[in-house]
Amino acid sequence: MYNLTDIGTVKDILGRHGFHFSKALGQNFIVNPSVCPRMAEESGIDENCGVIEIGAGIGVLTAELAKRAKKVVVIELDTKLLPILDETLRDFDNIEIINQDVLKTDLAAIIEEKFKDMPVYVCANLPYYITSPVIMSLLESRLPLKAITVMVQKEAAQRLCAPVGSRLSGAVTVAVDYYANAKKLFDVSSGSFMPAPKVDSCVIRMDIRPEPENPVSDEKMFFKMVHAAFGQRRKTASNSISSGMGVAKDVVIRAIEECGFEPSVRAETMDMSQLAMLSDKIVELLRNN
Ligand code: SAM
Repeated sequence: MYNLTDIGTVKDILGRHGFHFSKALGQNFIVNPSVCPRMAEESGIDENCGVIEIGAGIGVLTAELAKRAKKVVVIELDTKLLPILDETLRDFDNIEIINQDVLKTDLAAIIEEKFKDMPVYVCANLPYYITSPVIMSLLESRLPLKAITVMVQKEAAQRLCAPVGSRLSGAVTVAVDYYANAKKLFDVSSGSFMPAPKVDSCVIRMDIRPEPENPVSDEKMFFKMVHAAFGQRRKTASNSISSGMGVAKDVVIRAIEECGFEPSVRAETMDMSQLAMLSDKIVELLRNN
């Protein structure tokens, strides 16, 4: 079995295959030996689970997942990595590599086809250029996942795990909190990667909620309201929501009043239950109008 965190081994493999890192594909591979075992260990997987990994690189995390899970399916876009992975992961018989763009992959079909009756987890060191779209699509498509453990840039992690209503929270914080319980696991310094990126990273875990803690009557309207409210976060909620959602201001003001909130309330100070209440009230007033 290869030691995929040994710099000499990694350079040898990449050199023999004539591989060059692609910045555009967010290729920074983990070479710190403690990171991937810890990530796999803290992701909640065991020998009965199926795991989806996004972006294999040379397979350093894939191998740690395969040692612990029943089956691992990896979605890797870069065709040049395939012969490398054939070599580095040849000792495993529970790994399948799918050469596709994760954003164009039907993950529901993969779960159905490859992981019948297994609890399924996602664990990935995400390419930074698609962090938000990947996380949002994993959550919004309501895949039957237990948890999503991902390495993301430190700033993104702070926003994703911030309590709703705190200074660091944003529309993405609300969206994550609606579907999952997010927590920070551990920091990863930029020196843990080859090549080293400019910023530090952080591993977070999102445990999927079986049901939202604050369900809303109309999810589409709720997320529209949240985007409107946080898009202009310095404005009062009545101003940002009415202009961002295209709803008459008197309707939003009445909804705020009927919920018992201050007229000057700003969305960034509202917690999840207050945001859900306001969205339901706006929907109710619009239906009765
Ligand atoms: N898991 C490896 C590690 O931790 O060392 C590699 C992580 S590297 C940050 C991101 C990986 O995602 C690269 O292998 C890259 O080729 C792959 N990737 C980039 N864009 C992708 C996409 N749209 N779909 C699937 N894989 C992608």
